[in-house]
Amino acid sequence: MDKVLELRKIKEDMENDKSLPLVKRPEDVIPGDGNCDSEIVFIGEAGGYHESIQRKPFVGNAGMLLNKLLASINLPRESVYITNMVKTRPPENRDPLPEELAAYSRYLDRELEVIKPKVVVTLGRFSMAKFLPNARISGVHGKKFEVNWNGKNILVVPMYHPAAALRNGAVMNEIKNDFLKLPRYLKEGEKKEPEVKAEQSELF
Ligand code: URA
Repeated sequence: MDKVLELRKIKEDMENDKSLPLVKRPEDVIPGDGNCDSEIVFIGEAGGYHESIQRKPFVGNAGMLLNKLLASINLPRESVYITNMVKTRPPENRDPLPEELAAYSRYLDRELEVIKPKVVVTLGRFSMAKFLPNARISGVHGKKFEVNWNGKNILVVPMYHPAAALRNGAVMNEIKNDFLKLPRYLKEGEKKEPEVKAEQSELF
């Protein structure tokens, strides 16, 4: 099936999934967005107010910063794919609950299965924990980790969440520097040895 159709099917399946937490109406679902042929996928946490209105990830303040960070490495937002761990807005923007992360996980796996990215950038600790469960973001941000995910090798690059960068100038500097490494990671793709194997994340 065509990738666009497959992604549309994932959206419709979420809209019709009565077991999914936080979905009262189909319109509550905030599907992933962007280029389905992208070699890089960005994964955030969950939608906020603006995302729930526009039904698009990262369109509020954190999204404006993400757009600027992408522009700083000449990657137009439209050229990449952006999604969230939890594809709805938790009440009062609270952190997603473990059962919510678990319930949406299979839909994120399906998105990755369709897009087949070389590089996955996790934004914040919740998406990082999906691939690097034992890592601490302060120790690993901006590094690349080779992860075998459902039988495929991907480079996972954990980064701070853009919302954290908006609150803290030191984190802003870190995320700007971390983004500058992405073009190199993308070029290397699967060809070169990664700096750190995923198992080593347990060290952090
Ligand atoms: N923060 C996220 O993690 N995701 C969004 O879509 C918006 C803000």
